Amino acid sequence: MTAKEFPGVPADLAEVVERHGHAVAAGDNATVLADFRPDRVGQLLASARPPEGMHSAELLDVEPGPDGLFSAFIRYTGTGGEAVFRSRWIQLDGTWLVTQVRNVPDTPPRTSMAHPSDDGLDAPHWEGLRRGELRMQHCPRCDRWTWSPRPICPGCHATDLEWPVVDPVGRIYSWTRTWQPFSPEVTGHLPYVVVVVELPGAGNRRILGVLLDGDGADVRIGAEVKGEIEPAADPEGYPLLRWRLV
Ligand SMILES: [Zn+2]
Repeated sequence: MTAKEFPGVPADLAEVVERHGHAVAAGDNATVLADFRPDRVGQLLASARPPEGMHSAELLDVEPGPDGLFSAFIRYTGTGGEAVFRSRWIQLDGTWLVTQVRNVPDTPPRTSMAHPSDDGLDAPHWEGLRRGELRMQHCPRCDRWTWSPRPICPGCHATDLEWPVVDPVGRIYSWTRTWQPFSPEVTGHLPYVVVVVELPGAGNRRILGVLLDGDGADVRIGAEVKGEIEPAADPEGYPLLRWRLV
């Protein structure tokens, strides 16, 4: 086998990456596991989502990446479609190993909790998203914003709470980048960045969400973000509010 050549990429790495792609497509798990960095096997196994009935691999590109790592792009084809993985490679004790892997493009995970709660308390929020609006709970009597929703105002105990539209613009109060496949629904979307956003338009109440294009983004506390409403996955489903760095 003659390995392809890529500018700035060691020839032996290109060869290893090409062999790795064929091993993945062939379901040769022993070879694939041996290519993984030993301390990250559990994470790497469930990071990326292959196509159904995967049967072939094509090495698209290898390029020098951040932090001295090399990024390889491999397209996997199956009976159910195709998927492109970006694996990052590191040389440890003379051996090239996978230290990160993900599907590209970078898409955010969709949680199974993306719908109104059983008690219906937050239904106006979800119905608002269906109309393209961010709506949060507000007490007209004492001007207090509440999130997450409550049956009565925690400030003055009023029950006639409103759901005004809030400008989806805020600041990052806190954030974290998740590399671990904590639940099956995040596979194919790792890593992703969760942000806690403080909303000046809602009395600085904070709301949780996923940052778009968070992989590799320079995320800072205090950074300005803007909300974007992602359409529902199906007609019965609900849209999701996502965030993007301004
Ligand atoms: Zn109140």
